[in-house]
Amino acid sequence: MKIEIQNLNQVYPNGNHALKNINLEFGTGMFGLLGPNGAGKSSLMRILVTLMKPTSGLVMVNGKDIQKHRKELRSILGYLPQDFRFFTALKTWEFLDYAGSLAGLKNRKERMAEVDRLLDQVGLLEARDRRANKLSGGMKRRLGIAQALIGNPKIIIVDEPTTGLDPDERIKFRNVLSQLSQHDVIIILSTHIVGDISSTCQGMALLDRGELVYYGSPENLVKHAEGHVFKLNLTPYEYEKVKEIYNVISTIPNETGWEVQVVSDDVPDYNAISIDPDIEHAYVYYMEHKLHTTLID
Ligand code: ADP
Repeated sequence: MKIEIQNLNQVYPNGNHALKNINLEFGTGMFGLLGPNGAGKSSLMRILVTLMKPTSGLVMVNGKDIQKHRKELRSILGYLPQDFRFFTALKTWEFLDYAGSLAGLKNRKERMAEVDRLLDQVGLLEARDRRANKLSGGMKRRLGIAQALIGNPKIIIVDEPTTGLDPDERIKFRNVLSQLSQHDVIIILSTHIVGDISSTCQGMALLDRGELVYYGSPENLVKHAEGHVFKLNLTPYEYEKVKEIYNVISTIPNETGWEVQVVSDDVPDYNAISIDPDIEHAYVYYMEHKLHTTLID
């Protein structure tokens, strides 16, 4: 499986240039699409699932232009949109059963087996007889992913799935996705939450105001930030000065004032200690410095 995105542009009728000449390639595995609100993630996802035609450029799945082979693409696609809502008071299993019928699973017995297999996979088997619209936010999101998975899609696209979930549910959701990524599928996950990009993502694309600013592994992104993250112990007065000059990532109160973490190209004064970056540090560093686009090996 391969998705190739070539010179993709999206300009909305009001002139918003939401995607600026994007070039990307995804093979099997899990990929994260990360960027702040307005970066262009949803626009890219809507184009990928053929809900929207790009202004210019091409998306190819296994060498075929998706605009010319929509039906074929949709038959191998599972999509969980950002604003996925339940319009029904159906029971959880009934909802999936219905989704299965829409996905073309005609044989009732096979469909029921698939419904239970998926409920189990997303950890909702015990909730199978509860009304779908009465489930908790996290459970609804997991039911959403089960709905996207019915019919064995080869490409799974999930748009901002963890927004509004508590940490516990976010982890559960991430685990469901990383289990899926063991199979021969492409999973593309869009998020504005850096923590959603786990080490199970073999690649990540960083978007900012319509531009691709990084494409590579999460590990390499972190490497770029090595030697650029510092810990400082500051008095309140010093903190005010540092805040003006440096990009402060975190601030924790201590006995003398503040323990502050900053990203910076040069070593700050105030007895700065260099610390190992994590992906959040790397994200801030990268977004601030806009290094050149790196293509995955
Ligand atoms: P993200 O999903 O990263 O938040 P979006 O793709 O939703 O980004 O939006 C990218 C840019 O395109 C934003 O500036 C947004 O305001 C604009 N945009 C999105 N949808 C529309 C639309 N239907 N009409 C005009 N502008 C839009």
